[in-house]
Amino acid sequence: MPIKLLDKATIARIAAGEVIERPSSVVKELLENSLDAGAKRVDVVIREGGIGYIEVSDDGCGIVFSEVLLAFERHATSKLSSFEDIYAISSLGFRGEALPSIAAVADLEMLTAARTEESGTYLSLSGGEMVKHTRMARSPGTTIKLTRLFSRVPARLKFLKTPQHEASKVSEVVLSYALAYPEVKFTLSIDGRNTLNTPGNGKLRDAVLEIYGNDVASKMLDLETDSYRSSAINISGLVSPPEISRSNRNSLHFFVNRRLIQSRALQKAVEQAYSGLLMVGRYPLGVINICLDGALVDVNIHPTKAEVKFSDESAVFTSVQRAVRSALVEKPPTPHIAEEAPVYRQESARQEPIWGETPKPAGTVQQYFSPVIQSAKTSVLPLLRLVGQIGGLYLLAEGPDGLYIIDQHAAHERIRYEEIASQTPSENARQSLLAPFILELNPVQEAMIEKCKSELDLMGFEIEEFGRRVYRVQSIPAGFTAPQAKALLSELVDNPKDAPAEIKERLQRLMACHTAVRAGQVLNEAEMRELLLKLEKTAVPGHCPHGRPTIVKIDFSQLEKDFKRT
Ligand code: ADP
Ligand code: MG
Repeated sequence: MPIKLLDKATIARIAAGEVIERPSSVVKELLENSLDAGAKRVDVVIREGGIGYIEVSDDGCGIVFSEVLLAFERHATSKLSSFEDIYAISSLGFRGEALPSIAAVADLEMLTAARTEESGTYLSLSGGEMVKHTRMARSPGTTIKLTRLFSRVPARLKFLKTPQHEASKVSEVVLSYALAYPEVKFTLSIDGRNTLNTPGNGKLRDAVLEIYGNDVASKMLDLETDSYRSSAINISGLVSPPEISRSNRNSLHFFVNRRLIQSRALQKAVEQAYSGLLMVGRYPLGVINICLDGALVDVNIHPTKAEVKFSDESAVFTSVQRAVRSALVEKPPTPHIAEEAPVYRQESARQEPIWGETPKPAGTVQQYFSPVIQSAKTSVLPLLRLVGQIGGLYLLAEGPDGLYIIDQHAAHERIRYEEIASQTPSENARQSLLAPFILELNPVQEAMIEKCKSELDLMGFEIEEFGRRVYRVQSIPAGFTAPQAKALLSELVDNPKDAPAEIKERLQRLMACHTAVRAGQVLNEAEMRELLLKLEKTAVPGHCPHGRPTIVKIDFSQLEKDFKRT
């Protein structure tokens, strides 16, 4: 093929690929423009995850008639005049790429009015080509409406996930900026539902209240830069006390000079500050604002500006870590352990078995040392003789070929999982709660609950909408306690990435995990025997539903060798 220059539309679509990946990237760019325009109010409307429709309107400075077309030219910006300005930049945008990129991959309408002009301007573009450009009335500010996103770039369209998934990504962007700019009022409507409405009163805690609910907002700890250090790096914001945590990292938001950024290293710095305070697999919530001289940070290393480079990385990480740690240490909160696992302990104290009809053992030495597992035909485990429990974590048992060490939580998880998976939906007994409990959700979590509602109902969870982003749990599966059900639902809504087909499987695993005996629970002898017996009857006794081993074996032959070694 001969070498030739690409046409303008093709160049624009290729370039757009760098900045505009999915609906949430469009919303991010438009929000940043509104904030740069000094808006005090930004309203976002999306339909079908943004694929069908996106609208962002603001009350910012607007664009004058004579510059409206220019704004859609590549590399046209009002925010930068020379390269050096980048190092002192206070605006979020500066590349002059967003509007032309968005216009290249959608049909776009803009209605804008500058504070300095009498009337406003209307412009419509289709695939980057001008359709209409005329004067039209509007109060100061800008509205941009998009339809047919990516319809000319089918490859992009294919790469998108479900509308719900895309909507939750948009939510994440909007709520992140709502946290970064508490002085701006943000609203978000998804398919006609108002899912976010921040007060815009300048108080971060009030923005947190709107997004994460009252319980979280009232308990978050203030972050302040260590006052003993005269530092050029200022840290402010809020972080969660250890009793509030999430099962994913989505609720930790970092802003550098008010720019939303992603950083694995900062994430790590914060997680380290929590070390010893959070359980494995649990992550804190937080809004962490890092303010430093613009000359000490390079924002121009990534087309979407999602990553930044600090001239002194370790100084920034240390400052963040110290600020978080001192917030945690200064006001040491009392963990809510009692909510987590009281039920089994009580039952254990009453010496009642947790698995139904198990006969109580006499507890004599004789019985303790007799074989407890009768071999079944289907068995993949050999005949085991219970020896006892160690550390409140593991059961020890003797088999014909060695010592078996069984992780009690993982083993019980396997048992529960198979029990739950073998039940038909009609068998899933439910229990009505005398005191229904409430879930306060953020928009992303709400989308997840909506997605899982029918599966949850089949499993015995009756959940009804009780207010805006507030749900009431009326009944839960039989065998659950309310705190167990609450913990399960919190974990479920915190992982919004599942495809619909995975939801059932995931729910079963969560139900198994949350009703299994926990690490650290002391088991009585009958309970230990029952556990071994039931484990032996499972289809896959060697692994928990997450794939981790339930049993570790030490062979007698290995022991013999070890003892003979001189
Ligand atoms: P950048 O933000 O990098 O300057 P954009 O392509 O996003 O580039 O926008 C181009 C220009 O259009 C901006 O520099 C700004 O002057 C103007 N503009 C875009 N959106 C708005 C808005 N919502 N309000 C006022 N001006 C805007
Ligand atoms: Mg911009």
